[in-house]
Amino acid sequence: MAPNRLEGGCQCGAVRYAINGPPLMTALCHCSMCRRANAAPAVAWAMFKAEQVEFTGRKPAEYASSPAAKRGFCAACGTPISFTADYIPGLVDITIGSLDTPAAMPPALHYWDSKRLPWMRLADDLPKYPEFPPVE
Ligand SMILES: [Zn+2]
Ligand SMILES: [Zn+2]
Repeated sequence: MAPNRLEGGCQCGAVRYAINGPPLMTALCHCSMCRRANAAPAVAWAMFKAEQVEFTGRKPAEYASSPAAKRGFCAACGTPISFTADYIPGLVDITIGSLDTPAAMPPALHYWDSKRLPWMRLADDLPKYPEFPPVE
């Protein structure tokens, strides 16, 4: 589905990254934490093994959005870039919106759909999970 090597970065160009290989999961998250952290009605994420993601420019700054989770962003322009958490060890979520070619990485499902904003209606037939999707 997705090309084998993708690049992306923040709006100002300080943070740049390259990703090797396909994502483990792509999804739109409707949780209230992502909504607030990105100031967006929902956030598209692609999940990778940490070793697939190589930061080629400045590394994202991080803050703890909860005791178990860190969100990475550009310290210069604020673009949200990444998400890591103790409960997904070795994995990193990258914001699909920060890819240079986000159209190449369509989300496959919705999660935390129980928190979806009532006016957020998307014309898709993707599976919807009220909270986290089942883990294989
Ligand atoms: Zn930036
Ligand atoms: Zn979320």
